Amino acid sequence: MRAGAILLLAVGGFRFALAAEAVPARVTTAPSYILFLTADGFRSDYIERIQPPHLSALIAEGVRVTNVTNVFPTLTTPNMASLVTGAWPRTTGVGANTQYVREEDRLVNAPRTSVATIAGMLHEAGWTTAAVGHFMLQTSVDHYAAPGYSDAEKTTDAIIDFLQNKHAHFVGAIYGATDQEGHRHGPDSAEVRAAVLGIDRAIGRLVAYLKGRGIFEQTLITFNSDHGMSAFEKQQAGIEPAQALAKAGFRVATSAAELNAGTQIVVLNAGVRLVYFRQVPAEAERQRAANVLRQIDGVEVLGRKELEALGCHDNRSGDLIVSPKPGFTISNAGGPGGLHGRFAEQNPILFFRGPGFRRQATIGSARTVDIVPTLLRLVDVPPGSSVEGTVIAGGLEN
Ligand SMILES: [Zn+2]
Repeated sequence: MRAGAILLLAVGGFRFALAAEAVPARVTTAPSYILFLTADGFRSDYIERIQPPHLSALIAEGVRVTNVTNVFPTLTTPNMASLVTGAWPRTTGVGANTQYVREEDRLVNAPRTSVATIAGMLHEAGWTTAAVGHFMLQTSVDHYAAPGYSDAEKTTDAIIDFLQNKHAHFVGAIYGATDQEGHRHGPDSAEVRAAVLGIDRAIGRLVAYLKGRGIFEQTLITFNSDHGMSAFEKQQAGIEPAQALAKAGFRVATSAAELNAGTQIVVLNAGVRLVYFRQVPAEAERQRAANVLRQIDGVEVLGRKELEALGCHDNRSGDLIVSPKPGFTISNAGGPGGLHGRFAEQNPILFFRGPGFRRQATIGSARTVDIVPTLLRLVDVPPGSSVEGTVIAGGLEN
């Protein structure tokens, strides 16, 4: 119909004249199902480069966010925590995959958040919830399975099982192969391409199941990632930060094995370097340590103020973070494989497809902490007090 055409409708004996533009294009309905699918280390531009057919079809029917801000450092564990809570590390308490916890004076591997997750909030509202390999949801769902982090077919099998046999209406799942192959072979490798296409096939089978059961149009799918992936740059920082501090006379530990009663500074490798002042009480000594780090070629040093602005935790993310400048890696320059953790990996995939979302739309920017409040708004469940993200403007139909 041409724009500006007038529709004349006879309804119950009355005649209405409606401008065509004013006719609602669709009726807004809330989804009955939410699939929260996270592909670990899935860089946004894999879509254009590799053109996975099933994911591309979903994107064509949904809303794609082109510039996605995830949490810093761009590591898996803090980002998974923030993806499923809608809160920053300062609130989730998860700042890194391994973090120094000051009050316990130890390094904690694989920290978990105690903050409410989207699964917990939906459960409170009466939803049946499940998760597949989405480890940060393990304790807040009704049903959990971990059939193989990087096995896309088994992940889809488990999602279908929860939908079919446990009557789950929310399922969070992780497809992990893109991260595994990205680390081993680098983002430009044939192995990453195969991982993307493998995940795509498994998603295609999931969509076929939903269509076969007649629930595809009642299902909201969000496909997102925790971080991107980069090849190691050729330019390397002047010196390893832990070595620079040791040379300047500080007693430094870089692992649990090295941590002892005399340790003054803990330095953890996370693509960036997290620097914790364990036992440096004098402000002048802290300044001296920061200056030693600032003199390293190819890095910048983020202090408390910068870290707060990034939503970092007030001590578990470190007192300082040494961040390589664009084009630099702190270690392994020119090496094989891939890395993340830096600002350069703030390029994860994010799209939504399903009821309540606009179709064939692109949004310039959003943050991963905005996903949870946006989904909750769709199904009219109030966000918990810990949610810090906001509803993504321009994504919803109304
Ligand atoms: Zn990851």
